[in-house]
Amino acid sequence: MSILVSLSDYTIIVIMNNKTYIEPSRELGVRAEVDVLVVGGGPSGIMAAYAAAKDPSLKVMLIESRGYLGGNLTIGLPILAFLGPKGNQVVKGEPQKFIDRLKARGAASDHKPCKLHTSLTIINSEEAKTVAQEMMEERKVEVLYYVFCSDAIVENDTVKGVIIESKAGREVIFAKTIIDCTGDADVAFRAGVECHKGDEDGGLQPPTLMYQMRGVNVQALRDAIVNHPEEYDMDRMPPEQFKEGKFITVGLRNQIRKAQQEGLDVPVSRTILITGLEEDEIWVNMTRVSGVDSTRPESYTFGEMTARKQMKVVTEYLRKFVPGFENARVETVAPFMGIRESRVIVGKYVMTAQDMIGSKRFSDVIAVGGYPVDIHHAKGGDCTMVFLNDSYDLPYRVLVPEKISGLLVAGRCSSMNHEAMAGTRVMSTCMALGEAAGTAARVAIESGKAVADVSVEKVQKELLLNGAYLG
Ligand SMILES: Cc1cc2nc3c(=O)[nH]c(=O)nc-3n(C[C@H](O)[C@H](O)[C@H](O)COP(=O)(O)OP(=O)(O)OC[C@H]3O[C@@H](n4cnc5c(N)ncnc54)[C@H](O)[C@@H]3O)c2cc1C
Repeated sequence: MSILVSLSDYTIIVIMNNKTYIEPSRELGVRAEVDVLVVGGGPSGIMAAYAAAKDPSLKVMLIESRGYLGGNLTIGLPILAFLGPKGNQVVKGEPQKFIDRLKARGAASDHKPCKLHTSLTIINSEEAKTVAQEMMEERKVEVLYYVFCSDAIVENDTVKGVIIESKAGREVIFAKTIIDCTGDADVAFRAGVECHKGDEDGGLQPPTLMYQMRGVNVQALRDAIVNHPEEYDMDRMPPEQFKEGKFITVGLRNQIRKAQQEGLDVPVSRTILITGLEEDEIWVNMTRVSGVDSTRPESYTFGEMTARKQMKVVTEYLRKFVPGFENARVETVAPFMGIRESRVIVGKYVMTAQDMIGSKRFSDVIAVGGYPVDIHHAKGGDCTMVFLNDSYDLPYRVLVPEKISGLLVAGRCSSMNHEAMAGTRVMSTCMALGEAAGTAARVAIESGKAVADVSVEKVQKELLLNGAYLG
């Protein structure tokens, strides 16, 4: 039985299922037995698989529920914070080599410094998918698309494998080490790792369905911000930042207020627009649906459907109130709604905002982050940002679940509290965490150790050899 429940600002479908079904036990086919299995092919997963497969004698597999690699690299977002608050580059190694490959085919910009986001790097989503796939082929990573990891096989508190679902049915993949890069900590959660979601009230940063507009007169937008900053306001970013190069607008609060006074129900208080690689291209980051939990399909569905309706209002706002959009058209909608926050694991160390603000250094550093705390309010509207004076270390222990072994968790679901993940979630940091996890898995197998007991010094040495920045 399902019932519709109306809450103040949205309606959700709650499945009231007072019956259960006992699934008969059955024998499952084993599809593969590998050394390292990476689950999820987003920014962290790509780096994890590539780093693990550096040793050609290891059998590395990457499974992905969609039909391409990239995760949120494919929804029209710039990569933020390759540069840290002091302007120096804090993410190097494999993530930088990935950008270099994109640049070689005209599919990435330079890292442009930014007063709000530390830096932005514009990429072409389609080329990102292709490059990621080529990297997997280069290192002979076995990639399997269209499989969803639905469960974990755990024996004596050690993850031994996963269960996957696909058109071929339910199957098993066994692995010596599994790296969970699902964004939602799906493997860890199923394996019984303690996970958290959201702030103290369970409030999650709202998701966004990104979309692209073409036919934008970007120069007109640039001129308005540079020449009339009192009218076309920007958060923290000086007008000069918009004179040349790629940019993100975060502001135009005046324009949104005007639109709202005229009755347009714009769902955000800031106009967030991202230039693309093409001259007339802008990606719009302005739909926002509060209360969405990506781990509940009915909730995620509600989010997708609501955001699609919001696009109409946002587009009307842009055309009427933002210079340069008068004749712009919606060209492409991202393939899925991007999730800012869901589950994070409780690892051997839980990173906090204080660690970031205090630029804390750790002896087991495996990556460095530079992005500020950037919390989009769970109830919608605005955002809280806490800026940093310097970059911060990420310790190896944020990848390692507290109790379950055989598993590392990299990307936005690594061990962070709500405030910390609001900074470490950017793709540069997720890629660095992925590279560290893949490297650790490789070093652990090579030295006959479990990932929880690997020599972190050896992992650091390997990362540095590969050009990573560890402070
Ligand atoms: C709207 C929005 C705006 C953002 N803006 C920026 C920005 O401007 N710049 C920036 O750097 N960052 C930004 N971020 C943050 C960033 O995009 C994410 O935090 C980051 O991509 C997380 O990387 P990840 O590898 O952990 O996960 P993801 O990118 O989410 O990748 C996870 C992958 O795992 C796959 N997967 C998931 N579950 C399973 C499963 N059970 N089985 C198999 N496969 C599975 C998914 O299909 C996906 O490919 C933004 C995020 C959102 C949502």
